[in-house]
Amino acid sequence: MRFFIFFILSIVPTFLGTIAEAEIRVVTTIPDFGAIAKEVGGPHVTVQALVKPTQDPHFVDAKPSLMIAINRADLLLVTGMDLESGWLPPLLTGARNSRVQRGGTGYLDCSTLIVPLDMGPVDRARGDVHPGGNPHYWIDPRNGLRLAQGIGKKLMALDPDHARDIRDRLDAFVHRLKGRIADWEKRLAPHRGTKVVVYHESWTYFLDWAGFTAMGALEPKPGIPPKPAHVAELIQQIQTQRVKYLIQESYYPTRLSSVFAEKSGAELKVLPTMVGADGTCSYFDVIERLVSAFTKSGGIK
Ligand SMILES: [Zn+2]
Repeated sequence: MRFFIFFILSIVPTFLGTIAEAEIRVVTTIPDFGAIAKEVGGPHVTVQALVKPTQDPHFVDAKPSLMIAINRADLLLVTGMDLESGWLPPLLTGARNSRVQRGGTGYLDCSTLIVPLDMGPVDRARGDVHPGGNPHYWIDPRNGLRLAQGIGKKLMALDPDHARDIRDRLDAFVHRLKGRIADWEKRLAPHRGTKVVVYHESWTYFLDWAGFTAMGALEPKPGIPPKPAHVAELIQQIQTQRVKYLIQESYYPTRLSSVFAEKSGAELKVLPTMVGADGTCSYFDVIERLVSAFTKSGGIK
């Protein structure tokens, strides 16, 4: 009996360890890449996001727990375009995991999967947090398709034994997302040309897809908090423009936004940009939330 217990105690952890080892440990900066990786990788992946959905992804506290997560990762998915350049590099160095260093087999800069929008010249000297171009590309669902394809391809390369299942899951995801995009575009079509002001330029890719027109931002430069004088000037500028909405993320304060909304007549919309914010559970949920905020009717789920 004693031998049997000893036998079980020594075998079970090894067995469980083998099962756990079989999964690709995906670590992502923003939760959205993780949500897509989970749908495409299914039981073959575990996913951990470094950025909380309610947190400003430009400014993250480089805690040791994040370094430990990167140390154990098989695949690191980053937004790139300098979104994480203020906090990720020291974590990557400290994590001492060669698999997920830039250029490693387990490092994927997701901005290489999309076609960036041309934002014109940037001015680093004045504190622009988008020196590498606008990195908020994941809330255009057409980029969601590209992200799924690229992440799926990477997962298949890292786990060739399950490549067939991952391919099936990827095809199902792409098929479902294409269907939803058709529905969203139909609902957005009557609203093309809607004029909006944004708090931070998180919405540029969404606005481009939706066909909305951006009339300005409360932040004088991306990453520089709005000041009353700039907000007053913006209200002056757009006075005759019939701006319908002011859009902002839930992680920014609403004090000046409320002033802007009241004085300009624009409706303030506080919306999620990342999976997990405001009760969203999937990538589809986030885009649905955005589309339904501007089109009163709900669509297919
Ligand atoms: Zn930004």
